[in-house]
Amino acid sequence: MVGQRFVEALRARDGGGRWRVTVLAEEPRPAYDRVRLSAFFDGVSADELSLHSPDGGVDLRLGEPVTGIDRDRHRVRTTAGEYPYDALVLATGSYPFVPPIDGARGPAGSGPAGSGPTEAARAGPVPDPARTLRPGVFVYRTLDDLAAIRDFAAGRRGGAVIGGGLLGLEAANALRLLGLGTHVVEFAPRLMPVQVDDAGGAMLRRYVEELGVTPHLGVATTAIRSRPDGGLAGLTLSDGSWLPTDLVVIAAGIRPRDELARAAGLALGDRGGVRVDPACRTSDERIWAIGECAAVDGVCYGLVAPGYAMAEVVADRLLGGAATFPGADTSAKLKLLGVDVASFGDAHGSAPGCLDVTFTDPATRVYAKLVLSDDARTLLGGVLVGDVSAYPTLRASVGGPLSGPPLALLAPAGGSAGTGAGIAALPGAAQVCSCNGVTKDQLLDAIGQGCVDVPALKACTRAGTSCGSCVPMLKQLLAVSGVRLSKALCEHFDHSRQELFDIVRVLGIRTFSQLVTEHGRGRGCDICKPVVASILASLGNGYVLDGEQASLQDTNDHFLANIQRDGTYSVVPRIPGGEITPEKLIVIGEVARDFSLYTKITGGQRIDLFGARVEQLPMIWRRLVDAGFESGHAYGKALRTVKSCVGSTWCRYGVQDSVGLAIALELRYRGLRAPHKIKSAVSGCARECAEARGKDFGIIATDAGWNLYLGGNGGFRPRHAELFATDLSTGELVRHIDRFLMFYIRTADRLQRTAAWIEAMEGGLEHLRSVIVDDSLGLCAELDAAMARHVGSYSDEWRDTLDDPDRLRRFTSFVNAPDTPDPSITFDVERGQPVPATGERRPVTLGLPTTMGVGS
Ligand SMILES: Cc1cc2nc3c(=O)[nH]c(=O)nc-3n(C[C@H](O)[C@H](O)[C@H](O)COP(=O)(O)OP(=O)(O)OC[C@H]3O[C@@H](n4cnc5c(N)ncnc54)[C@H](O)[C@@H]3O)c2cc1C
Repeated sequence: MVGQRFVEALRARDGGGRWRVTVLAEEPRPAYDRVRLSAFFDGVSADELSLHSPDGGVDLRLGEPVTGIDRDRHRVRTTAGEYPYDALVLATGSYPFVPPIDGARGPAGSGPAGSGPTEAARAGPVPDPARTLRPGVFVYRTLDDLAAIRDFAAGRRGGAVIGGGLLGLEAANALRLLGLGTHVVEFAPRLMPVQVDDAGGAMLRRYVEELGVTPHLGVATTAIRSRPDGGLAGLTLSDGSWLPTDLVVIAAGIRPRDELARAAGLALGDRGGVRVDPACRTSDERIWAIGECAAVDGVCYGLVAPGYAMAEVVADRLLGGAATFPGADTSAKLKLLGVDVASFGDAHGSAPGCLDVTFTDPATRVYAKLVLSDDARTLLGGVLVGDVSAYPTLRASVGGPLSGPPLALLAPAGGSAGTGAGIAALPGAAQVCSCNGVTKDQLLDAIGQGCVDVPALKACTRAGTSCGSCVPMLKQLLAVSGVRLSKALCEHFDHSRQELFDIVRVLGIRTFSQLVTEHGRGRGCDICKPVVASILASLGNGYVLDGEQASLQDTNDHFLANIQRDGTYSVVPRIPGGEITPEKLIVIGEVARDFSLYTKITGGQRIDLFGARVEQLPMIWRRLVDAGFESGHAYGKALRTVKSCVGSTWCRYGVQDSVGLAIALELRYRGLRAPHKIKSAVSGCARECAEARGKDFGIIATDAGWNLYLGGNGGFRPRHAELFATDLSTGELVRHIDRFLMFYIRTADRLQRTAAWIEAMEGGLEHLRSVIVDDSLGLCAELDAAMARHVGSYSDEWRDTLDDPDRLRRFTSFVNAPDTPDPSITFDVERGQPVPATGERRPVTLGLPTTMGVGS
């Protein structure tokens, strides 16, 4: 990447053609975007990742590694010949470090084609090649590595990544997307130890676990073991535990590729890397080093931005300039995993006397830390977990005065975070894109010259083209400059969710591949795949895990169960209206007892059973389905429960049968897939014991019928539903709710709850009333028909799964040992029930002073 940038920088400056450039490349393809490498698993091709422009005016020799430098004769030797040079620029990058783990290596050449020097390059002084890794063990550096991982993963179930840093988590995400149950083994006591502190690490761990990735922290891998047939069996960890796995990716750090410099007698950094001065010149004045292989004043940088800065410096120097390396911004943001984590500046607070301001909200699971100078006036760095919306602004503000009170800067995006205000407050010289060194002023210039969207800004300035973390800021800059933004769902579709819904519905599209081929591009991503899965499910396209639909679903939908923090699953049968017979209650108790499940009554009036291993799910559900239970869809973006009070049947104050209505509504809307979860409740009188106004649609009985409330929710930002219609008959009520739900499903954005949907609607509740009650858009017949189709075609997903041996096959812990339960899952006992073993559990005490003993 850095070699390519150097060539471009030199070409841009060298109008007179003073330099002829030869590029000698070990890999068989021109430079490509390694930062976006994982997009390969989304179907982005090598060509799409290419950074090379054919008209670059260089003599490009692919697959021809340099094997030696003859400094006296000013020549380099390659596997194919010799080349003279006047100036030699080393941009050889890094190689993945493979720790000395027993069993990691196989016989030479036995491993997959992949990272590291080719066979031919072995003629030269090259580092230990990744090619000697045993089959099933991989590194994560080149396109060939990723292709080898993809091919090997086919048909396998378990994967482990050794190394829980930025790259390890990116690799873990790739394994997860390849459908493998994924574990991460990290020697440090927290994930991303370089970027986050202990508190941030603890929060990050919970997010990662929720995605179905199991971290093993504070342990090393001591051996990789084989099965008798030669396949991979698993890992032995330093605490003596055993981790079965089919595939291992080693992401334990990188080492600079300084072997050519070493053999040529150039000075090296104390910890490796080609030692260079601030002009990026090595100890030989004709030789320069840039990128990950260079140690500027002894320091190697494993990020692309410092390398790009070095490339510019050397291009300038070769044309007589006096540029020097300006220093590096080592801010980093976790990409792809869908977990928001970022660190910037002096994140660990190493400056003398610096101050930490932290913000922790366990409810919303947001952690943030700002590091300030000792006089609390200058921002030095920080860590963000759970909400990184302020990252681009904060990163760009490092070294400058605080633009507001620290806590206001840390408030999550939903609150008064300074992201929007922040961009306006940033000085023009602030770097918005640190990878490519693009300032706010340069972006504003580009907007002024007619760049009206993010792709145009990217093309014109290069901002956002590397790690992409500044793209939200590009959007904000466009917005504050008065440019209207595109509603594209993601880079694969130019359409909004609503437009995609209409396309799928009107054209009768039944698969994601058809939709993306005919109306999008690429192979989709974590954003568009679940959205399309939900649209297809909302439109009644059959069993959610059939065919390619399975690969689109979120982890929870994948196993029709909610994954918990210890990697087990919860089982939540539907109990409509919270009403249950003693016989069914007994079955739940028996199942919980026989499978040792933690049992809890939920706020939604049903019973959650926790701690089921994936291979137990079918056995548990067999017994529940036989007893008349069905899926409660606690895992899906779908209707959850319709809660109720006891109603007029028993209650002295009740004026209507709230239980009867709740059951009828829950059965009517069960399994209805939507942009977000939907909750409801029915109260039998104005005392509101069912808390109906906290729900997406809530019903409160009146003497004359039912009042309908819409757009409430609990959770992150609680909101009361608003009164929509009064004294409705049951028929009118159901018709209104049918239309409300179908209109919401059809027009809401991805992950938008009903409250936010109504809020964003032009005309708000009034407009909604006109659509549903007055049929102002002429849609009601369609909405009614869509709901009738849903009700008529409902089928229980768990029953459908149990009836089909093919569908049942996904429910195993390890494909290589289908009957082996996951040994990493262990339990403690707390208050007489099994709970995940953590080794650190403390009983909750009320913390009262002893002199005030309760009951005294
Ligand atoms: C999956 C992944 C994700 C990443 N994400 C980020 C990110 O989000 N942000 C970020 O800043 N950085 C990221 N990086 C790091 C970033 O890719 C590197 O910092 C960047 O590629 C360094 O550029 P470079 O030119 O120094 O090295 P490279 O891009 O590795 O290029 C070096 C090239 O030199 C070749 N070479 C080596 N020896 C010889 C020889 N003897 N003869 C000929 N050719 C030789 C190598 O084969 C290689 O092609 C990521 C890296 C990976 C693998």
